[in-house]
Amino acid sequence: MHHKARKRFGQHFLTDPMIIDRIVSAMHLAASDTVIEIGPGLGALTLPLLQQLNQLTVIEIDRDLIARLRSFAPTDRLTLVQADVLKVDVANLITQYPCKIVGNLPYNISTPLLFHLLQTASHIDGMWFMLQHEVAQRLAASPNQAAYGRLSIMAQYHCQIHYLFHVPPQAFHPPPKVDSAVVWLQPHTKLPHIANDYAHLNQLVTAAFSQRRKTIRNALKNYVPEHTFSQLAIDPTVRPAELSLAQYVKLSNHLGCPL
Ligand code: SAM
Repeated sequence: MHHKARKRFGQHFLTDPMIIDRIVSAMHLAASDTVIEIGPGLGALTLPLLQQLNQLTVIEIDRDLIARLRSFAPTDRLTLVQADVLKVDVANLITQYPCKIVGNLPYNISTPLLFHLLQTASHIDGMWFMLQHEVAQRLAASPNQAAYGRLSIMAQYHCQIHYLFHVPPQAFHPPPKVDSAVVWLQPHTKLPHIANDYAHLNQLVTAAFSQRRKTIRNALKNYVPEHTFSQLAIDPTVRPAELSLAQYVKLSNHLGCPL
């Protein structure tokens, strides 16, 4: 039975066996690993994953695809969760930690999904995701690069980001309009910079990058008193994209109270 790809669910199915193999190999799986796949679709990654694993949990929003997977996958080893992944508390879904998460993500929700999953990073051993190339660049960007912003800082707070490889549109059916890339997000075993109040850090970084062309002094003028910059040896005339994660954490911890 033919499945017509649903645009609203960001359905672009992987068809290139080399790419599928490279993603699964990058995960270095042991049979006993706890693994969650987001958006299994027609099973392009699901079946090769099941060849290596005793057990796999998948989260898929499309009921038709869940029914289809149930009809051909070994359901004794596959836990099918029909849900919107943005509403699933991933840490509650499994009983054995840490887990590995993998997915050729629906691009229309990839950024909110990354923020959603980063909250549970301490339960996660690693995440391997297919993303729009542009989002992969933002995750991995360093200060002063055009792609550097809130996503880079908040992701790098929790994880080391490894850009693995580029994937062309022809690797999917139907082909997406954009280039893609596979990234590995490796949660830090020990956070390199600890925010006293994570929500405050997030708000500060959001405020800074909502005015990324201004100087940091002007972008944060409602939040940071002028003398704070000199106290912390931060040049107030630099742009938000010139400050490192360490500097944002230092600024947030110094201010210390909700914005
Ligand atoms: N893994 C398959 C592959 O590589 O061929 C499918 C990838 S496709 C890019 C994205 C998948 O995520 C689709 O199966 C889609 O139905 C599913 N999806 C979209 N939005 C979702 C959501 N909010 N929660 C869970 N799954 C979702």
